[in-house]
Amino acid sequence: MPQIDPNPAQHPLLTQNLSLSFGESTVLHDISLAIPKNCLTVLLGPNGSGKSTLLGALSRLNRPSGGIAYLNGKDIASQNTRDIARKLGILPQSPLLPANMTVYDLVSRGRFPHQGLFSHWTARDENAVITALEITGTLEFSNRAVDTLSGGQRQRCFIAMALAQETDIILFDEPTTYLDLRYQVDVMDLIAQLRTQHGRTIVAVLHDLNFALQYADYLVFLKNGRIHQTATSPQDCTAELITEIFETPVTKLIEPVSGLPVFLPLRKQGGL
Ligand code: ADP
Ligand code: MG
Repeated sequence: MPQIDPNPAQHPLLTQNLSLSFGESTVLHDISLAIPKNCLTVLLGPNGSGKSTLLGALSRLNRPSGGIAYLNGKDIASQNTRDIARKLGILPQSPLLPANMTVYDLVSRGRFPHQGLFSHWTARDENAVITALEITGTLEFSNRAVDTLSGGQRQRCFIAMALAQETDIILFDEPTTYLDLRYQVDVMDLIAQLRTQHGRTIVAVLHDLNFALQYADYLVFLKNGRIHQTATSPQDCTAELITEIFETPVTKLIEPVSGLPVFLPLRKQGGL
């Protein structure tokens, strides 16, 4: 169970009273969130609740209009892009798909932050790329163009690119989108393994609540751009909470092997 300490230096990522606006519209309000080290933090909430925007603020892609985001105890706004990219990798919700680029070249892009202006490709770079290809099961099509792959295969290539970056912190925005059930489990197992075996700090936006409950160390529920509730154990999640967050009636069941709760959406009244 993560220990939450308000001191920025104690956390890989921390926000204090962070708000964020696009033009006139404020989409994040007063977010104070400490991301615990070596844990898998999962952001959950309805569409449009601000999850992707928050990941953007944690990685300096989105500038806050109020409050501060800290990376390793320093205001992220004061850190340069290359320094950030050595500490933090992000897999966006809809990564841009380069035309005619091979899988190998895409994954190699993850090494850019480690290369100086005149430095050459090193054995360490090559090793990081091959390892990332192996872990994600993409080595077999490393010479294919990324845009000829299926959605699920592509997604694994983008995950490989994030892994090749070898950062201590990785942010994933809906990493299991487009994947069939087998690869959803493989990707979630892989993410969990990054945390347990490689000591990484992971923040993931997940749309599948039941996956989130199985894997997360720390759950953060967002609604309307605010933190509605946090939980350090799935057992703290009630049917009332989930119903309130997603505005959909659910019932809570207990999965007999793990003892973890599972939420099943119920048909709304008035249906045919
Ligand atoms: P989520 O990831 O939870 O589905 P987002 O963070 O993508 O939600 O979006 C939160 C809100 O911010 C939404 O209302 C969305 O329309 C708005 N928003 C996101 N990005 C932008 C942008 N670049 N410009 C204007 N509004 C945006
Ligand atoms: Mg999103």
